[in-house]
Amino acid sequence: MNSRRQFSIGNVKIGGDAPIVVQSMTNTDTLDVAATASQIERMAKAGAEMVRVTVPSMKEVETLRTVKGRLAETGAGNIPLIADVHFNPKVAEAVAPIVDKVRINPGNFTDKRNFSEKAMSEEEYQAALERMASRAKPLIEICRENGTAIRVGINHGSLCDRIVGRYGNTPEAMVASAMEWLEICTAYGFGNIVVSMKSSNVLTMMEATRLLHARMLERNLDFPLHLGVTEAGNGVEGRAKSAAGIGALLLSGIGDTIRVSLTEDPENEPPFAHKLVSSLKNIIPESVRINGTTLHFHDDESDYERWLCRAAAVTCNAHSRSKLTSLELSNPNFTKAQISETENIILQSCRIRLTNTEFIACPSCGRTQYDIQTVLSKVKERFSGHPNLKIGVMGCIVNGPGEMADADFGIVGATRGLVCVYEGKRRISAPIEVGAALDLLEKTIENSLER
Ligand code: SF4
Repeated sequence: MNSRRQFSIGNVKIGGDAPIVVQSMTNTDTLDVAATASQIERMAKAGAEMVRVTVPSMKEVETLRTVKGRLAETGAGNIPLIADVHFNPKVAEAVAPIVDKVRINPGNFTDKRNFSEKAMSEEEYQAALERMASRAKPLIEICRENGTAIRVGINHGSLCDRIVGRYGNTPEAMVASAMEWLEICTAYGFGNIVVSMKSSNVLTMMEATRLLHARMLERNLDFPLHLGVTEAGNGVEGRAKSAAGIGALLLSGIGDTIRVSLTEDPENEPPFAHKLVSSLKNIIPESVRINGTTLHFHDDESDYERWLCRAAAVTCNAHSRSKLTSLELSNPNFTKAQISETENIILQSCRIRLTNTEFIACPSCGRTQYDIQTVLSKVKERFSGHPNLKIGVMGCIVNGPGEMADADFGIVGATRGLVCVYEGKRRISAPIEVGAALDLLEKTIENSLER
């Protein structure tokens, strides 16, 4: 059952009985008006029904106004724009009258993340919570006056120390962080809110979203839910992760808007997202059978991506209810080798069985200053085939290290084409050229495998 509340974001209805809204995010430098406007146009043509743009500072606020003007001239002015704001409530307040929705991250709105997991005293905790509530009030008032919605966007990788100190780095912590904001907005009588619970781990994202959904029902809250798997990467693997996490929740009737995040051109995201939504209709219950801990799924779907979506969603949905250990797909339209490869990709996506290196790569955004798509391809080429290894490839040093906290090693974008290498949470290089970073990464991984 979908969330009950429905409202409009720009001219697009969300929640209630509205269709699932497909959205995506630009990866241009927001200050480059022409590039940003033309990418938004291409994304709209590719099926994006809302577009998010990063707004790191006040400079981008005015640029976004110009981008809107440019879109109106070219006939794409109707597409709702969402400002993505981290760390800076003043930027969120300034951009709120210009856009249709502001995404804030409760993990960095007023709280800090220094990776300290020490629990605060009750007094310290309440003081920090009150500081956040009073800092949220002006933004909420501006959004109310301008008909702007807010997305409370929780990321598993960027929970603040206050929350992690009390709840650990867990799905429960994500829910607690979201509920604080929902209670604040409710106390101020503001209801145009969308909530998301994202993680690069499909199972964490699903568990957190299901928990939040249940917690909201208990509290009689009915805010629409945005679904997405962060840092899903690219290619078939990236698509499978998104299809598994988003698709499994959609099969349970949870979710009002989705973003498939790929480390590719953002124009590639909406067509796959639409395919995911439409492919989940008419799955015949008799085609899904669980025997012990093995899931059997027979399908006649002949489009590979649609079949991938259906199989990944069905598998992840079943795994979240009764733990699976293996998967047997059958489909007369594909060869044995294709079926076996797809089974492995889906099992890896759902973390049921790992047969390859786990790549965690962000989709990039206006904060990225290097060619992340090429670097991800090179990293995959050089470091595939290690089931016990997780490697992150992240666009920026602002959010990247936190968001890939699950990874054993990583490459993170610095400034002007340079990147830094990480071993766990520790940065082990200054900003260096990509070639040198790949060599250092290889040496570090070899050393650690020998240990
Ligand atoms: S980690 Fe990637 S998507 Fe997130 S803010 Fe940085 S560049 Fe953008």
